[in-house]
Amino acid sequence: MPKPLCLSVKGLVGHYGENLALNGIDLEVRAGEVVCLLGRNGAGKTTTLRAVVGLLEKRRGSIEIHGQQTIAMLPEAIARLGVAYCPEERGIFASLSTEENLLLPPVLRPGGLSVDEIYTLFPNLKERRHSQGTKLSGGEQQMLAIARILRTGAKFLLLDECTEGLAPVIVAKIGQTIRLLKERGFTVLMVEQNFRFASKVADRFYVIDEGVVVDEFRREDIASDLARIEGLLGL
Ligand code: ATP
Repeated sequence: MPKPLCLSVKGLVGHYGENLALNGIDLEVRAGEVVCLLGRNGAGKTTTLRAVVGLLEKRRGSIEIHGQQTIAMLPEAIARLGVAYCPEERGIFASLSTEENLLLPPVLRPGGLSVDEIYTLFPNLKERRHSQGTKLSGGEQQMLAIARILRTGAKFLLLDECTEGLAPVIVAKIGQTIRLLKERGFTVLMVEQNFRFASKVADRFYVIDEGVVVDEFRREDIASDLARIEGLLGL
C-alpha cells in the first residue's frame, strides 16, 4: 500500500509580475518520503517551494496538502496544516542569540520540539545558545534554521538549498539530520544543487526545467542511469 499523499501539485502555474516562472508543474510527495527538486539555475525550483507555502502570490492550478486544496490559501493558513519552509537565505535574526531565535517561532501544532529537544538533536546549538546570530558559522546558521522550523510542530519540511556554501563535513551532518528526521516520520521536499549530496539523502527526484517537470527518477535508478541524469542536470 502506498503511503498517503502529503502533497499533490497539478498544473501549477506561477508568475512574478508578468514573468512566467512555473508553467504547469506536476509532482507528488508521499508521507515519510524525502523528495528532491533538481535543475539548472532559474528553472523554477525555489518558486515551486514558495508556491506550496503560499508565498508566491500569482499562482494557479492545484496544490493539495494532506488532501486539502490550498491554492487560494494564505501562508499562515497553509503553515497551520503542518508545513514549514526553510528558505535559502535561512532567515536567522542576526541581532538575536541562538536561543532567542529558537524561542521566536510560534508552535502551530502539537508535536513542536521543545528547546531542550532541539539541543539534544543539535548539541552544537546548545554550546552556542548565547551567541548572536551573526557570530554563528554558516553551518550553525543552517542547523538553527532547520531547528527553528522543527519548533512549529510541522511534519512536512521544505528545505531550500540547505547545503549551499557549506564545508563537506557540515554537508554530511545535514545529511545525517535529514535521515534522522525521516526516521522520525518527517516528510521532506528539498531543493538541491549538490547532486552528490542529494543522491545520498533523497528517495525520489524531479528535474525541473523552464518551469515544468522534465524527468523524475528514484535513488535506486541513479547507478544504472547516471549518464542520462548527469546530462539532464548539465553536470
Ligand atoms: P536557483 O537555483 O537559481 O535559485 P531556481 O530553479 O530555484 O534557481 P527560481 O528562483 O524558482 O529558480 O526562478 C525561476 C524563474 O523566476 C527565473 O527565471 C527567475 O529569474 C525568476 N524569478 C525568481 N525570483 C524572482 C523575483 N523575485 N522576481 C522576478 N523574477 C524572479
